[in-house]
Amino acid sequence: MAESLKGKAVVDAMKADLTQRVEALKARGITPKLGIIRVGARPDDLFYEGGAKKTCDSIGLAYQVFEYPEDVSQEAFEQAVLEVGANKEINGILMFAPLPKHLDEKKIRSLIPVEKDVDCMNLGSAGKVFADDQTGFPPCTPTACMDMLKFYNIPLKGKKVVVVGRSLVVGKPVAMLLMREHATITICHSRTENLPEVCAGADILVAAIGKAKMIDSSYVKPGQIVIDVGINADPDNPGKYCGDVDFASVEPVVEKITPVPGGVGSVTTIVLCKHTVMACEMQHNL
Ligand code: NAP
Repeated sequence: MAESLKGKAVVDAMKADLTQRVEALKARGITPKLGIIRVGARPDDLFYEGGAKKTCDSIGLAYQVFEYPEDVSQEAFEQAVLEVGANKEINGILMFAPLPKHLDEKKIRSLIPVEKDVDCMNLGSAGKVFADDQTGFPPCTPTACMDMLKFYNIPLKGKKVVVVGRSLVVGKPVAMLLMREHATITICHSRTENLPEVCAGADILVAAIGKAKMIDSSYVKPGQIVIDVGINADPDNPGKYCGDVDFASVEPVVEKITPVPGGVGSVTTIVLCKHTVMACEMQHNL
């Protein structure tokens, strides 16, 4: 039976560390604060926002929601994002995407200052991640993967890591962060040939595909560590969600595996808080 790499222990340790860092900032008269920019009120956004607020509360991090109507104009919204960006009280910015279709999302993303861009919306932040410049924040999910690997003391140096998925939100940045730790990376995608064979050659397999339970026992081998980033509607259990990995098929084979739910996804909001605290510390040269 594989060891289940649960997110809760990671979250608890990060909360303890961040609570202290927030207190230390407050002792200097600095109140770190996350700004949440939301257009409209999509249920998914509200759900994530609720989780983010709760996590902020749990470590003493302040937050402010900047809410705009669904039909906000490009001009008004650009101005609003610039104002939040220039607001000295706001250290980190989370903006929900996708934005409504009438807005030029690429342009809006570019208006979020890189030093406050705690979920990597601006391509300038992605550039920093790719250049190993640690003043740019990766998206929260790839950082959550790295924080899990670090917490569970999983060695990366020289290891063969296969990442399935090449999106700018997960696949590509997680590959860059793993390479920063001296792993040897193979990035796979929908056109990769012999995918099961390539995956089975890895020491660590990261699945970021968006296909429920696609990775089954034919993709893995004994001794592997499997990080499942997927969040999908579970075709076998209506109303529940599952990963990109078929847990029941893979878990008996591999050495360690992150569950879904309760794995990578459960670490994402505390990473958002960590990035905001880091942004605040950097903005005050601490
Ligand atoms: P995405 O933008 O749709 O990218 C999916 C990637 O998987 C693409 O690179 C695609 O290849 C590849 N792919 C699709 N079908 C494939 C197949 N049959 N074989 C091999 N590769 C295949 O998705 P994403 O935003 O990266 O998200 C990936 C998963 O992570 C989703 O389940 C999403 O819900 C989840 N997610 C979780 C969190 C979290 O907090 N845990 C955050 C973000 C996303 P091509 O490039 O060739 O199309």
